[in-house]
Amino acid sequence: MDKKLVFIVPALVIIFFLEGVYPHFKGRKQRMRHAFPHIVTALLNGLLTGILLAGITLSAAGWADARSLGFLNVLRLPYYAEWITAFILFDIYMYFWHMANHRLSFLWRFHRAHHSDIEMDTTTALRFHPGELILSTFIRLPIIVLLGMSFAQLALYELVLNIAILFHHSNLGIPEKWDRVIRAFIVTPNMHRVHHSIELRELNSNFTSTLSLWDRLNGTFKKRDNTLTITIGLPVLRERKWQGLSGFIITPFVRSE
Ligand SMILES: [Zn+2]
Ligand SMILES: [Zn+2]
Repeated sequence: MDKKLVFIVPALVIIFFLEGVYPHFKGRKQRMRHAFPHIVTALLNGLLTGILLAGITLSAAGWADARSLGFLNVLRLPYYAEWITAFILFDIYMYFWHMANHRLSFLWRFHRAHHSDIEMDTTTALRFHPGELILSTFIRLPIIVLLGMSFAQLALYELVLNIAILFHHSNLGIPEKWDRVIRAFIVTPNMHRVHHSIELRELNSNFTSTLSLWDRLNGTFKKRDNTLTITIGLPVLRERKWQGLSGFIITPFVRSE
């Protein structure tokens, strides 16, 4: 079993509970029904990672490590400085990877299955198409080798990333003044709600995964004064059939903008 689950599952349960007590968008009734396809997807993606993808990543990182390849091996930083640098550099890569998922039509086919959810909450953090996971795993292999990142450094990044995405997809009603303070450092629910907006100019903003700095530096940061007025989801794929498991799975393979 993936050791990260010891942290991720309790984080999911706690945030899901708190969303019920302090919701941003109020009046949601069928939260378990909404969560169901996302939980099945998480199990499917977990299986895929356990059987295949983790082994591939481990082999690539081990291969580079044995040969002392990559930027971090050249830099030879002190122990903790290397871990922090690895985290920051990989987070910058994730910013551009996410942007590529929106800009390149082939990648968008898979990523739009994440955006077709019309009621975003913490379980939306589990709604990533297995195809996107496979593409992401293979495309990042050369990046891991070029950076000289160890498997342990990548595992730590993924743990923080997973908790961060559970948090910023959540329907927690965090007051805007607190949200503003937190998003000076990391992506918050109000920041990521803008990214899940039905409006194209908002959809094409706020790409960062963990540290909010990358959107600010690259001019893709957008905020909305009243995030309660955001319509979540895409202009298409809004019907019930696209929300459920089978519609979600076939989303990359149907003709739709
Ligand atoms: Zn996106
Ligand atoms: Zn998202």
